[in-house]
Amino acid sequence: MKRRFLPLAAIVLVPILIITGFALRGIEAQRRAAWTDAQDNARQLAEVRADRLSTLIESRYVRTAERFADPPVPSANVPAGSALAGDDLATMRTLRDNPEAGLTASGLPKRVIAAFRVYRQTRDPDDARALLTLATVDCPSVITPLAFDQVFDLPEDVAQAKDIWKGVKAVNEVLRRHPEIPENGTWLLDQGELWWIASVGGQIRFVALGAPSGIPVPRGPAVSSRPWETVRLTLGGDVIDGPDGVVLASKRVATVWNKAVIASSPALAVEVITPDSQQVHSSVTKQATTTLGVLGAAVLVALIGLVMIQRLMARERRLNELKSHFVASVSHELRAPVGSIRLMADALDAGKVSPETAADFHRLISREGKRLTNLIENVLDFARIEQGRKRWHFEAADLPALVADTLELMKPLAAEKRIALGFIHEVFDAEPVLDSAAVQQALVNLLDNAVKFSPPDSGIETILSSDDRCWRLAVRDHGAGIPSSERKKIFERFYRSGDELRRETQGTGIGLSLVKAIAEAHGGRVELESRPGQGSTFTLVIPLDATAGH
Ligand code: ADP
Repeated sequence: MKRRFLPLAAIVLVPILIITGFALRGIEAQRRAAWTDAQDNARQLAEVRADRLSTLIESRYVRTAERFADPPVPSANVPAGSALAGDDLATMRTLRDNPEAGLTASGLPKRVIAAFRVYRQTRDPDDARALLTLATVDCPSVITPLAFDQVFDLPEDVAQAKDIWKGVKAVNEVLRRHPEIPENGTWLLDQGELWWIASVGGQIRFVALGAPSGIPVPRGPAVSSRPWETVRLTLGGDVIDGPDGVVLASKRVATVWNKAVIASSPALAVEVITPDSQQVHSSVTKQATTTLGVLGAAVLVALIGLVMIQRLMARERRLNELKSHFVASVSHELRAPVGSIRLMADALDAGKVSPETAADFHRLISREGKRLTNLIENVLDFARIEQGRKRWHFEAADLPALVADTLELMKPLAAEKRIALGFIHEVFDAEPVLDSAAVQQALVNLLDNAVKFSPPDSGIETILSSDDRCWRLAVRDHGAGIPSSERKKIFERFYRSGDELRRETQGTGIGLSLVKAIAEAHGGRVELESRPGQGSTFTLVIPLDATAGH
């Protein structure tokens, strides 16, 4: 059995396992391809974004500012200058335009003071410009705010000058915090603002980009065809704006002005990342889940199929075993009565027996003959039913009389074990339609079993009853009973309880299956109630009009 089943299981399972292996490899390849594809897409996106940022930086033109020293501290060492005392315009202008004019006693540049005085008198736009230029370049930090306050009638110029001043002031402050700015420039993040600054001699070149979150680097799914991508900025490898995630592509932002690419260190880069790398594979994962689900279902179906085949094979094997037992039982059942009939007939032939023994022999020969007939009928009917050749003869019958006749028939057998056969029945209004011979055969089998499995000196009751739909014929014994584990099996063909060698009762194992077949042919069923040690009741439950169920 096992030798036949294992190759079958291998034939079914091995191809499924091979297909599963290929499917898993395919899924892995798809995942890799999805990742590569995502990286390609991200690279393009990073390039476009970095180029845009580069252009933006370029368009913001590099500014140049003077690197001014700390604000001058008023000092007593500075010789007092008399020229500033007067209000003579020409003197003031000469002083204003003289780079060598020096400082006042309080350390302020004489040129700027002179420019203030000139402008206060003339209110001339040129004088205003001269004042602002001097204030923002020569001594910006102390006097500049004052200069802006004074020059109110040039709003446009003032606004522009203020702007420039602010930028210059801010970059000078950054420089005070970061004194080591290289000549070829660097990116730096100062107090949350992004700068590119180069310090060339006494001058500063710079680009002020403000807070990184304000830089128009497009972010989020809206700019990309891939829902999982998002863009962020890094400076020297540190994230300065954007979420955490797995990097798909990274592109340095080229700092270009005057047509030259400036290699700044640390580098500013645009990175395309995915917050969750699983998302990149999500479509593949979905497909893989479906594929694996289908394969799993196939394996399950195959396993169920194999289990069913294995069960069928086991059943077939059991049936074969039961059949050979059946043949052995039938031969045995035939041999015993035939043997005793021959012996008794020989003895009678020889005429050596007393008249009483001869009478006994005749009775025994008749009984054994009946047993043989019963057995052969059982076997033949069983074969006919199995092959579908059995002919049923349904007609209205006097059921109580049929039962009484059958009980009469069985009395000698029961008498051998001193078993009393009782019959309890009600009055039947109508005669039920049935196959009398078959019902009798079923009852004979039930009674035969009841006698076989009852202890000597006990009783067997046959109870006939009916309602408006069915009649019931119950045979109750007080024998060993049937364990619940066997209640279904005993109705199977050839089944006999216990092991073949230890079996004490005679039988072939077809009696109850025949009873069941007869009940079913009448559209009815056999019910069994049994308590081990207390006896069993087998009941035929048959519709009153059996042909209706047939
Ligand atoms: P057989 O009687 O020829 O063995 P059956 O099909 O009539 O075959 O019965 C099958 C088995 O059911 C019996 O071997 C016996 O174990 C069990 N059985 C049947 N009737 C009874 C009963 N009245 N009491 C106990 N066991 C029974």
